[in-house]
Amino acid sequence: MKALVWMGKNNVAVTECLKPRIIESRDIIIRVTGSTVCGSDLHLLHGSVMQLEKGDILGHEFCGIIEQVAPGAQGKGLKEGDRVVASFQIACGTCLYCGEGLTSQCQRTSENRTQAAMYGGRTAGLFGYSHLTGGFAGGQAEYVRVPYGDVNLLKLPDSVPDEKGLYLSDVLATSWHAVIDTGVKKDDAVAIWGAGPVGQMAADFCFHVGASRVIVIDSGWRLDYLKSKYPKIETVDYKCLPWGESVRSRLQQLVNLGPDICIECAAGEYAKGWAHYFEMLLGMETDTSEIVNEMITSCKSFGRCGITGVYVGFTNHFNIGALMERGIRLIGNGQAPVQKYWHMLLEMVENNEIDPLKMVSHRVSLDQLDKVYHKFDKKEDGMQKVFVQT
Ligand code: NAD
Ligand code: ZN
Ligand code: ZN
Repeated sequence: MKALVWMGKNNVAVTECLKPRIIESRDIIIRVTGSTVCGSDLHLLHGSVMQLEKGDILGHEFCGIIEQVAPGAQGKGLKEGDRVVASFQIACGTCLYCGEGLTSQCQRTSENRTQAAMYGGRTAGLFGYSHLTGGFAGGQAEYVRVPYGDVNLLKLPDSVPDEKGLYLSDVLATSWHAVIDTGVKKDDAVAIWGAGPVGQMAADFCFHVGASRVIVIDSGWRLDYLKSKYPKIETVDYKCLPWGESVRSRLQQLVNLGPDICIECAAGEYAKGWAHYFEMLLGMETDTSEIVNEMITSCKSFGRCGITGVYVGFTNHFNIGALMERGIRLIGNGQAPVQKYWHMLLEMVENNEIDPLKMVSHRVSLDQLDKVYHKFDKKEDGMQKVFVQT
């Protein structure tokens, strides 16, 4: 089968790979019909703080048609021929964390199987991160093996085409979780860092829960894209501020006392690239993302700040003084527990309360995916979110 594999730093290619087969008792094999690229795939493409091995198959957002169901997953609502979307994280459905709906912390697929355990972090197994998170091949491929398939696949109704259902895998659940977990409520003024697909949908969901204002910080065409879809959104171009102004001073001009809620949907830490990588290798603590300090100092006192952008390991120059004195609630949103939200989100898509197509700027085939990675990485060609037809 064809799949997109990691060949080395900043190098991916579509190539022939072995078709997956049933290995464990609750596996389901699906023939992929749609997939996409996430901002998290870029951290893997760069290979700076997380490094794959040559030949690893990427991709953690995908949908498809069930081809084979292992005996342990039979009779649980899914059968051959069903059209399904996969959750980006792999959960067993029966451990203590899964029982509480915290599937992104699944004990069976996380413990001692993920890189995060090295520094006391924790995440469930993820598709397309290979040995870094449990050794599960990704879905930017023609076929994929879904462990605990009865828990990690959701059947799509005929009224929801692949192009809309696919995004239940990750970006919709991630951005909804960012908003709910950070605690956005009616009449709040919210500031969001990052106008990529995650930031875009988080902004959309803020209006759904009644936020009065949403201000998005990013730069260039990504802000224009957002304004064209949601005229109500206010924007701050962090790369084009007048001399003497900062994101913080601009936000405090825009909102008296500062935003009630700040949410990080960018992971600007990765902009540090090589320097960050060497610091990690030497076991040094690295500089906090400027965004985290910007959130802490811009937010209204006793307001809430959430981190959804991906961070790895330790950090330094963290403004703990401002955090303490201003009474800021800093929340790590974690990997979003997809299964907790996807029935409700599917209903919102079915009822046209949200339109995932507002994110989709490009439609391509699997053969073109290597070029897509580089365009998405360089933020070229107005590429917001891509639908990869497989
Ligand atoms: P993306 O790369 O498309 O968008 C990120 C945006 O952040 C870009 O537009 C970039 O210009 C902007 N940015 C970078 N530095 C900035 C700064 N200093 N200030 C303001 N904006 C800045 O990525 P995406 O797909 O939208 O994902 C966003 C983040 O969410 C990524 O870090 C991704 O890894 C993470 N993510 C987390 C989860 C989760 O469950 N927690 C799931 C999916 C994605
Ligand atoms: Zn993702
Ligand atoms: Zn579990």
